[in-house]
Amino acid sequence: MLCDNISTNREGHLTFAGMDTVSLAEKYGTPLYLMDENKIREHMREYKTAMEKYFPEGSVPEFASKAFSTKQIYRIASEEGIDIDAVSQGEIYTALKSGFPMERCFFHGNNKTDGDIRFAIESGVGYFVIDNEDELLALDIISGEMGIKQKSILRLSPGIDPHTHKKISTGSVESKFGVAIETGQALELTEKALKCENIELLGFHCHVGSQIFESEPFITAADIMFSFIAEAKNKLNFNAKMLNLGGGFGVRYTENDPLIDYGEKIGEVAAVLDDKCNKYGISLPKIMLEPGRSVIADAGMTLYTVGSVKEIKGYKNYVSIDGGMTDNPRYALYEAEYTVEIANKMNAEKNFVATVAGRCCESGDLIGEDFKMVKPQRGDILAVMTTGAYNHSMASNYNRVPRPPVVMLKNGKDYLAVKRESLEDILRLDV
Ligand SMILES: *Cc1c(COP(=O)(O)O)cnc(C)c1O
Repeated sequence: MLCDNISTNREGHLTFAGMDTVSLAEKYGTPLYLMDENKIREHMREYKTAMEKYFPEGSVPEFASKAFSTKQIYRIASEEGIDIDAVSQGEIYTALKSGFPMERCFFHGNNKTDGDIRFAIESGVGYFVIDNEDELLALDIISGEMGIKQKSILRLSPGIDPHTHKKISTGSVESKFGVAIETGQALELTEKALKCENIELLGFHCHVGSQIFESEPFITAADIMFSFIAEAKNKLNFNAKMLNLGGGFGVRYTENDPLIDYGEKIGEVAAVLDDKCNKYGISLPKIMLEPGRSVIADAGMTLYTVGSVKEIKGYKNYVSIDGGMTDNPRYALYEAEYTVEIANKMNAEKNFVATVAGRCCESGDLIGEDFKMVKPQRGDILAVMTTGAYNHSMASNYNRVPRPPVVMLKNGKDYLAVKRESLEDILRLDV
């Protein structure tokens, strides 16, 4: 199986976090997002423990909210003692209302409006990750008006390509995020930030991309960032106290993806940091990482009910489900790969090849193509694995389809974390 929280029980039903998915589909209806709370906590601890072990004191993981943002995830992050990233008023508000200690929140984004900046400061956000000069100047003015000195780090683009999908590669010079080191603009921005009276500059940030399985891109990024930190020290007399190396460790969506031990990867990165700092003559700053998908993806599974099964003779087969791009747009966005199972027929033979199609009026509304699966019938339960990240958080109401609920599973018990949207919810804002 893909992950150790997936199995088959005596009835031949798929289980997730030890619970029968067919019974859960009956109890809550479909489509349904399931989340394995213990798996989320396990990943958070894996990161926290490894970072405490290998990195300087105060180094902590930040959970990248955009992967999955609900009140319950912030309560869990708070209990586990990890920090969070947020990129919008909505994510900040959700964290705030969950009771998350906002001084442990990093505010990201390449276009924070004046309204966003004020809202974040009023919400007590701990750190700004400043993306560009316009933002720096706006933040300095607004912080001044609000009578605070805002702790911040600068987002830089280290100019590396981690060999991942173009839309999830973010560290290259021409990326929309951050300020380029290569062009000299990063040093200029650092100099300007140091002159801002209402900004306390603590260090730098970079994020090279997502779905990375090697430690090498992080090591390359650290090397480039240390070299820059040394330059800032020598030319501007600035000692960076914090370096954020971003998120992006990969997860196993199919059996072709490796299973990776995040603690081990962090150890590999850490092993070379001291030498690199010595090489550049700087002291090792606090290291932050901000994993999203690797904390939450394999803690999620989506259940659907199969509708029509269409065989286009001599061409291809379609299995249609009662959800699709509205609850999981990742195939439509970047042809993301998944693994599917027919949850109530786990012991039957997989002798059918089909495309799994969503219900929207869009040919591109697919979960994936050419899955080898048990041939399903109308009414069967189809499960898509590894949907914890960028599914619920990217869901929409296209075609006025209500969004599914999120049910958390913990120690053999299930509880609702997000309710199913109703048709009345769909109309809530219509005048
Ligand atoms: C998306 C993103 C992350 C998280 O990426 P994952 O691949 O989900 O780990 C972290 N930091 C920043 C700045 C991001 O944009």
